[in-house]
Amino acid sequence: MHGPVPLRQMPGSDCIACRLDISGVVQGVGFRPFLFSLAARHRIAGEVSNTASGVQVFAEGDPRDVARFVEAITAEAPLLARVDEVKTTPVPVRGVKAFRIIASRTGSSRATLISADVSVCKDCLKELYDPRDRRFRYPFINCTNCGPRFTIIEDVPYDRPRTAMKHFAMCPACRVEYDDPADRRFHAQPNACPVCGPQVFLTDRRGRTIAGPDTAVDTAGDLLAKGRIVAVKGLGGFHLAVDAADDAAVRRLRRRKNRPHKPLAVMARSISAVREMVRMSAEEEAVLSSFNRPIVLLRKKTADGPAGLSSSLAPLNPCLGVMLPYTPLHCLLLDAGPSVLVMTSGNRPGEPLSIGNQDALEAFSHIADYFLLHNRDIYFRADDSIVRVQAGQIRFLRRSRGYAPLPVAVSVGLPGVLGCGAGMKTTLCLTRNHQAFLSQHIGDLDNPETFDFYVRTLDHFKAILDITPDIVAHDLHPGYMSTQYAKTGFPDSVPRVGVQHHHAHAVSCMVENGLDEPVAAIVLDGTGYGTDGRIWGGEVLIAERTGFVRKARLRYLSMPGGDQAVRQPWRMAAAVLYAAFGRTFTELDLPYVKEMDSGRLAFLCQMMEKGVNTPRTSSCGRLCDAVSSLLGIRHEISYDSQAAMELEAVGTDDFAPSLTPYPVDLVPRTPDRDGGEWVIDMIPGIQAMVADIQAGVPAAGISARFHQTLVQGFSRAALQIAGTCGLDKVVLSGGVFNNNLIFRAMSARLEKAGLRVYTHACVPAGDGGLALGQAAVAAATVKCGRDGMKKTAVPAQETLS
Ligand SMILES: [Zn+2]
Ligand SMILES: [Zn+2]
Ligand SMILES: [Zn+2]
Repeated sequence: MHGPVPLRQMPGSDCIACRLDISGVVQGVGFRPFLFSLAARHRIAGEVSNTASGVQVFAEGDPRDVARFVEAITAEAPLLARVDEVKTTPVPVRGVKAFRIIASRTGSSRATLISADVSVCKDCLKELYDPRDRRFRYPFINCTNCGPRFTIIEDVPYDRPRTAMKHFAMCPACRVEYDDPADRRFHAQPNACPVCGPQVFLTDRRGRTIAGPDTAVDTAGDLLAKGRIVAVKGLGGFHLAVDAADDAAVRRLRRRKNRPHKPLAVMARSISAVREMVRMSAEEEAVLSSFNRPIVLLRKKTADGPAGLSSSLAPLNPCLGVMLPYTPLHCLLLDAGPSVLVMTSGNRPGEPLSIGNQDALEAFSHIADYFLLHNRDIYFRADDSIVRVQAGQIRFLRRSRGYAPLPVAVSVGLPGVLGCGAGMKTTLCLTRNHQAFLSQHIGDLDNPETFDFYVRTLDHFKAILDITPDIVAHDLHPGYMSTQYAKTGFPDSVPRVGVQHHHAHAVSCMVENGLDEPVAAIVLDGTGYGTDGRIWGGEVLIAERTGFVRKARLRYLSMPGGDQAVRQPWRMAAAVLYAAFGRTFTELDLPYVKEMDSGRLAFLCQMMEKGVNTPRTSSCGRLCDAVSSLLGIRHEISYDSQAAMELEAVGTDDFAPSLTPYPVDLVPRTPDRDGGEWVIDMIPGIQAMVADIQAGVPAAGISARFHQTLVQGFSRAALQIAGTCGLDKVVLSGGVFNNNLIFRAMSARLEKAGLRVYTHACVPAGDGGLALGQAAVAAATVKCGRDGMKKTAVPAQETLS
């Protein structure tokens, strides 16, 4: 149907009229055409327009029709839309005779939600492969139900002049679709066709074009099939692509990218291609093919590698990261070339994804042989999201493209707070009422480029969400760039709240589960700055939003060499052996001792004796590192968490409930062991483990028992504490809970003992979810101060003694 809707009958006296203010994800998702046809169906006259805070409708008609119309808005909303609220206000009847879509109003509030980027839809795919369609094989086909959103938006309201499409004037055919309320492309801002829209082209590594729009994708496919490395410009950045079945090519990519071990994700042409490589449950398949299109970690069919593919994709890892194509360009490329491609992030080491053509040509000229480019700009970077499915639940390892900037719903309303994140795997969080907007993955803030991206992301989020933070929350670590930014980047009048790292982890889990009362929290993590200046990471807290008490922790270990011990787990192995056997550990008959340089070990012993450059840590991540090295699995790492992940992988297959844990002591705090009321002492377990190694017990069994020991120690502590304090809820948070063995066993054990266990399903358990907890703690703390309420939890400082 075209133009205004004629009304069948409208006896003036029976009419009512109302204004509807609809909020949620209602722009750029086909919402106005949906309302247009809904109005026709229910004989409603009036108008609809986009506003900066959502969609506004004026609806007039028979009272029963109006009621049904309003009801249907929520009930029948388009797939990509999310209706948060329909506010109805009675207004005078205007006596209009038709329903119209009118131009956007730009108001003062910008509360509307911007959609995340959406994978190409079925209707567009049908046209993509239809030789009679005018967009046949056009790599930028899209409609209101699919296509780029967040990554091409400069500002709101979401209209073409405020997107990367502003450089492309629509041809008459596209314009007709864009203006027709009955068309699938009505106000589809990225609408385009081969005549008027963006074009793809292929260059060599010097940027010289070797194929134009008609042949670029096919040529790139041929080159990939011949083992070449092609940089591919995608939705939120570049990928480096190579044939996943070509082992030599995969190794070449690893060598050139200087990435010897870190798992590489693949993109497969179809679900059936995925089924050939990995095991997959129905839930996993649903997540894999959802319109968010994350990378899903799936179990390899055999230990050596995914069937038919290079064994160098994810060595020493039971899982492979798999995604399906999410842009039409990806679909065409996988048709033209190999059916499974490695698609690894195109970035300079440690820096954010490259997004500009010239930048990519400079950054990857030594890695990629060819560049598949296009002339539609990417305004905002978004890395691929990474998830796994556990117990039917999606668990984020990285929440980014396809999910950001959509908010996480929070049950306790929050003012405008900024959570600044920490130092690694950083995301930002801005809050407003019952919504927490977590940014896309930003990365490790230890270089100027990533920090620049961090600041620009914050500015962009502030602009598109129209949030000026009233409160700023940051980590306690004085050396983090995020902490320094929090302290210097805002007017003095804005309150700053330092939030202890593991308190923030615990509260992030509380917030996403709607918990507002004190809970027990097991937080297992790599690195977090403690209130005693030490490095925490194996903690049992009693947490609430306004504060926490540190009830139990892992026994402190030395970190000889400080940060060096993070990259070199062999240093942590020396530290646990030193704790277990004293300096004579160097005389033990142990493969580890034989493998290590005796001079270096003696030097480390001196450092630990004198306490020189030897911070103390209760980090669970470091303990796992130590055991990984002790078992000869990994002495030095080339990517974050490598040693612990490989230790988990070794233990996986031998994991059985019949295995008994090693001894672990739960020791009441003594004067020489500061911090915490209980100390979880794993050293007796280390002594038993060393005996096992000496007896030739295989690493698989030892790894499995070690994981069980950790679970035993922490669950005993949590049960003891919950029992004493009368708590029945426990939250699990921190990056170590990405370890499947620990996560599954810990949840099962605590549940069996009668506790209600809460975990993460909306934000990552690791530092990617931290900012949410920071924001919630800061909001509660400042409110508490303003209301003059008595704090019920002991504030962080009081755990010092
Ligand atoms: Zn579509
Ligand atoms: Zn066109
Ligand atoms: Zn952390």
